[in-house]
Amino acid sequence: EDDQHLLTEEYEPSATAEDERMLPVLAVIGRPNVGKSTLVNRILGHREAVVEDTPGVTRDRVFYEANWAGRDFMLVDTGGWEDKVEGIAYRVAEQAELAIGLADAVMFVVDANVGITHTDEQLVKVLRRSQKPVLLVANKVDDQRGELEAAALWNLGLGEPHPVSALHGRGSGDVLDRILEILPEEGQTRAKPSGPRRVALIGRPNVGKSSLLNKLARENRVVVDSTAGTTRDPVDEVIELDGREWTFVDTAGIRRRIRQSEGADFFASIRTQAALDRAEVAVVLLEATEPISTQDLKIIDMVLESGRALVLAFNKWDLLDEERRAQLEWEIEKDLSHVRWAPRVNISALTGRHTDKLVPALDLALESWDTRIPTARLNAFLGALVAAHPHPLRGGKQPRILFATQARTRPPRFVIFASGFLEHGYRRFIERRLREDFSFDGSPVEISVRVRE
Ligand code: GDP
Ligand code: GDP
Repeated sequence: EDDQHLLTEEYEPSATAEDERMLPVLAVIGRPNVGKSTLVNRILGHREAVVEDTPGVTRDRVFYEANWAGRDFMLVDTGGWEDKVEGIAYRVAEQAELAIGLADAVMFVVDANVGITHTDEQLVKVLRRSQKPVLLVANKVDDQRGELEAAALWNLGLGEPHPVSALHGRGSGDVLDRILEILPEEGQTRAKPSGPRRVALIGRPNVGKSSLLNKLARENRVVVDSTAGTTRDPVDEVIELDGREWTFVDTAGIRRRIRQSEGADFFASIRTQAALDRAEVAVVLLEATEPISTQDLKIIDMVLESGRALVLAFNKWDLLDEERRAQLEWEIEKDLSHVRWAPRVNISALTGRHTDKLVPALDLALESWDTRIPTARLNAFLGALVAAHPHPLRGGKQPRILFATQARTRPPRFVIFASGFLEHGYRRFIERRLREDFSFDGSPVEISVRVRE
């Protein structure tokens, strides 16, 4: 029991590994007791096999992040799907079908000592139909003698059987190499950029971007010589705030005022996009004295599109009277409810009011943006959520949520594997609860659903 716990806790990927795309999924299928879970543990690199000797014991943890030769992928252990019920052969085929459906590639495990059984043949049919890439693994080949028995598995018609001893590790390196060959390229990692965090100050003309920049630059240390190991773009400015360096991107664009002429909006929006592309977090400046405009909303939409972290700064607070303040709260409630999660600061670039609150807001947003929830924790959360609030029945059908994983960070993107289409409202519900439980303040959260029926 303790080992199992330990096992699940360790799936948090290293902080430096950031997946730009979704991780490819490898499903491990086969009859009960052929050694699927032992093999999964072997692949995950845990010497102590976390298996019990009872065939088909229920194990609830089935979805893992694995890494081999620098590549990350997800592993689905269907050994965990088996039930202590009669008629298990039928269930094995059914479960395998589900697993194969959501996988990018399949590892089919056969017990070489037992040889080909009727269930194995059933599984081959399912595999053929799926047309997914398959790696045939002949397990329990603990020594040279077993190789002969493994060779008999050519008869399955799935190509070369790869002998392995999940228990002792014999041949497991070769099997892993083969897995990488059949898995699609998805999920390669990208190194996290180092150096100061990158901030875009954006907002419509005259909200006070250059005033804020000037204020920050005047009252803090402007870093002229670039930090060791980081390259700095001449259009950027590095300012030390709260003892840490921050890169404000495209400040040249802020300082070089656009003339109020036709097309200015267009150029402003191009510049905003360019700044967003190079930033990690956006501070959207809004004019507290004026109604929230469609242009403001468009800029916020651009941030959401870009997937950057978001802080809202209401500027010119020094000009506010009571009446306008109340009006503004109402406008925010009405127009900005979709970004309720964004930290908000009420500042004055002119007087410097509350500009010291920018850093905590940026930190909060970036922390959320970087957050990674371990797969086990995520699935525990979703399991409880779905149990308490099942997806509504539609036409007698109810999509089942099988697993979820966080495929990437910056911003957090979750992939939910489901047996059917999830309604928009239900996805929104999941997002809201995710935000409540894991606090993604300041970061967009993306949820995509992979449906396999
Ligand atoms: P699963 O039901 O397919 O997940 O199978 P398990 O991983 O639970 O393994 C079933 C049994 O086979 C356990 O007693 C394992 O110790 C044993 N086993 C697994 N792999 C090997 C192997 O490579 N060689 C031998 N001799 N036994 C193995
Ligand atoms: P930008 O176009 O977004 O860069 O805006 P600017 O920084 O050029 O500011 C536009 C105008 O608003 C200037 O006249 C500023 O002096 C004024 N302004 C900027 N911030 C504040 C503020 O916090 N309070 C007041 N009262 N005026 C401000």
